[in-house]
Amino acid sequence: MPNWPPTDGAGGSASDGPAISLRGVRKSYPLGNRNIEALRGIDLAVERGGFTAIMGPSGSGKTTLLHLLGGLDRPDAGEVVVCGRALAGLSERELTLFRRREVGVVFQQFNLLPALSALDNVCLGGLLDGRDGPALRARGMELLAELGLSDRATHRPDALSGGEQQRVAIARALLFEPPLLLADEPTGNLDSATGELLWRTLREVASRRGMTVVVVTHEPASAVECGRVIVLRDGLVAGTLNSDGMERGDLALRAAVLARA
Ligand code: ADP
Ligand code: MG
Repeated sequence: MPNWPPTDGAGGSASDGPAISLRGVRKSYPLGNRNIEALRGIDLAVERGGFTAIMGPSGSGKTTLLHLLGGLDRPDAGEVVVCGRALAGLSERELTLFRRREVGVVFQQFNLLPALSALDNVCLGGLLDGRDGPALRARGMELLAELGLSDRATHRPDALSGGEQQRVAIARALLFEPPLLLADEPTGNLDSATGELLWRTLREVASRRGMTVVVVTHEPASAVECGRVIVLRDGLVAGTLNSDGMERGDLALRAAVLARA
């Protein structure tokens, strides 16, 4: 297809090296006259390709971490490097383009715009990027087809099931073929059968593209599908587990122990 994906610096990666590297990352939120320390000094690296799970109890800082990785927020201190880009060095404009083109984000609540059709939700980032036209719409339809939603293109979110909405959200995240996909409890609002299907879909679209995927998940059963599990506790990395050669149950158990110890 002509003109898509765009080649003017969108997508792609700035350099070799890990997909993600964090050093000394801290983030707190003011709350009344207190300061909630959500992240208290995070060091980690994620290699390119494959799935990494982030686990940890509620309030341990998982969503905050994902927001920093996606450029949705900035840390108070420390260094966040994603696909070779030091995010602190980006201007607001550059950070906007980074968010739009270089990472795809999938949220627990889907976060689709209710007034827009599935196709328009998928294409919105392209419109904001000044790419209206047949190539953009054809691209959106191609993604909807890949996700099994060709016959849902004109439907608004409230006419779609939860699983369908989340697949639209995945299509939206893939619009610019970003090298990195971030997902925050993507199956948290789905029943378990739909959730399993969604995981399979995520795996398929990501492996087809060789994407790096970082998924926050509560469910040990999902985490064991990932090659690596990073466990957060109280805003710190409590430990990292590699699934190589480990029994599934064993990995889930160790992750649970790390999260609670
Ligand atoms: P998780 O996703 O692991 O449940 P979060 O990253 O959402 O954790 O939150 C980490 C901590 O920061 C929690 O104590 C939470 O209450 C607090 N927090 C998160 N967002 C805000 C906010 N916008 N304002 C104040 N506190 C927040
Ligand atoms: Mg969260």
